[in-house]
Amino acid sequence: MTNRISLRVLDQSAPKEKCGVIAIWDDPQAVRHTYLGLYAQQHRGQEAAGIAVCDAQQIHAVKDSGLVSEVFTERRLAKLESLYAPPNKAKPSGVIGHNRYSTAGGKNLSNAQPLVETTFAGPVAIAHNGNLVNADAWRHELSKAGRLFHTNSDTEVIIHLLASPEQRDTPDPLAATLRKLQGAFSLVFLFPDRIEAARDPWGFRPLVLGKLPNGKPVVASETVALDVMHATFIREIEPGEIVTLSDSGISSRRFAKPAAPLAQCIFEHVYFSNPASKVFGQNVLISRERFGAALAKEAPVDADYVLPMPDSGRSAANGYAHESKIPYREGIVPNRYVGRTFIKPTQEQRNAAVRLKLNVVSEIVSGHRVVIVDDSVVRGTTTREKMKQIRQAGASEIHLRISCPPIMHPCFFGVDFADRDQLIAHNRTIEEIRDYLEVDSLHYLSLDGMLAVMNQTPNDYCTACFSGNYPIDIDHPVAAEVATKSQQSMF
Ligand code: SF4
Repeated sequence: MTNRISLRVLDQSAPKEKCGVIAIWDDPQAVRHTYLGLYAQQHRGQEAAGIAVCDAQQIHAVKDSGLVSEVFTERRLAKLESLYAPPNKAKPSGVIGHNRYSTAGGKNLSNAQPLVETTFAGPVAIAHNGNLVNADAWRHELSKAGRLFHTNSDTEVIIHLLASPEQRDTPDPLAATLRKLQGAFSLVFLFPDRIEAARDPWGFRPLVLGKLPNGKPVVASETVALDVMHATFIREIEPGEIVTLSDSGISSRRFAKPAAPLAQCIFEHVYFSNPASKVFGQNVLISRERFGAALAKEAPVDADYVLPMPDSGRSAANGYAHESKIPYREGIVPNRYVGRTFIKPTQEQRNAAVRLKLNVVSEIVSGHRVVIVDDSVVRGTTTREKMKQIRQAGASEIHLRISCPPIMHPCFFGVDFADRDQLIAHNRTIEEIRDYLEVDSLHYLSLDGMLAVMNQTPNDYCTACFSGNYPIDIDHPVAAEVATKSQQSMF
């Protein structure tokens, strides 16, 4: 095992998760509450869902491909409840849940979580949000030592590390295991006697602690999951912290110091998190409104209306309209029965979804100069399709405003944009992108403008997909090339 990190980010068959987790201890309604929490976090992963419960001794998981509502039929929920509360069990224990997203090729059901294994210390289930950047190196090392892997998920590496014989004599096997990991991990572990929740030292992905109305503790990726259970927010789990939920209450210990600086994923605020959530100490919807206002200051334009690109551009469009004093109109109407195009696994599915997804109101758009505000442009194919629809509806001018900087680099930490060569902003000028999208003007929010909106110091956010400044040294040809270019640009 070397300290260098290797991974297969360009291999679309490699699973890369961008998920949601839930954990609840000692609540008689834990299965139903977990189900509700997963429902609230559906946007974090739509390809599979799972719930693991502990009976008197063993851990059982029910998981399947599909949306939470599809996976958890009433029959399955009832089965989970009967496993969770068998007649020979004295009191409630723990339940964990997972929403999963994977790239094309990573949809194998064996990768669905929670993963359940038996270690020298007994059964354990794990659910993971994020992406480890040293998983391949550990997998190689562990395979050489004879360990058999049942999935191609980076998460299974964590279980193997936890179960390895060398951990047997370690005072805190979980902390020792977590110290071996590099990358993004917000994790929940279910053991028969406790739940452990941990967040990587960089704080890439959110993880929050709350309390149900009956006082029982809950952990979730986002505060919207707490809201749906009527749970109150206690605090974020800190980078480098392990929080234990057990019959002794809530306790905390550190497995590592928080990284300095942190690398909280700013894209959670741009696009990924639910607007009602509070992420990294800041409400997401308000961040997006501020991104829009900053965009209006950076790129004012004479126009008749500001139109949001539904749904994710809505808050930024509101901010843009408010700042620019240009009337806000809902001129693009979404079909609510079509899912989010960004997380459909293939381009063909994404294109079909765009055509199904939006209707343009020609009575609003026709003959008018419109500012369209969207949250981000990834491949550009979807945006181009949308701009065509608006032009066909009769817009006289289209001014496109994007509430984040151009996405030029891959993410190694759990958000799968595309292969770098598929990113519209990779190796293209703004003018080339404008021309491709066939709009009259195009402006992306600057990196400084975006960071100025955030509550914490700019260095405490990961911006690598925009800036190329990766917060962790990554041994990958793409990352090495980006690092060389950014060093060259300093001279
Ligand atoms: S590279 Fe981008 S998407 Fe990935 S963690 Fe950093 S800011 Fe978030």
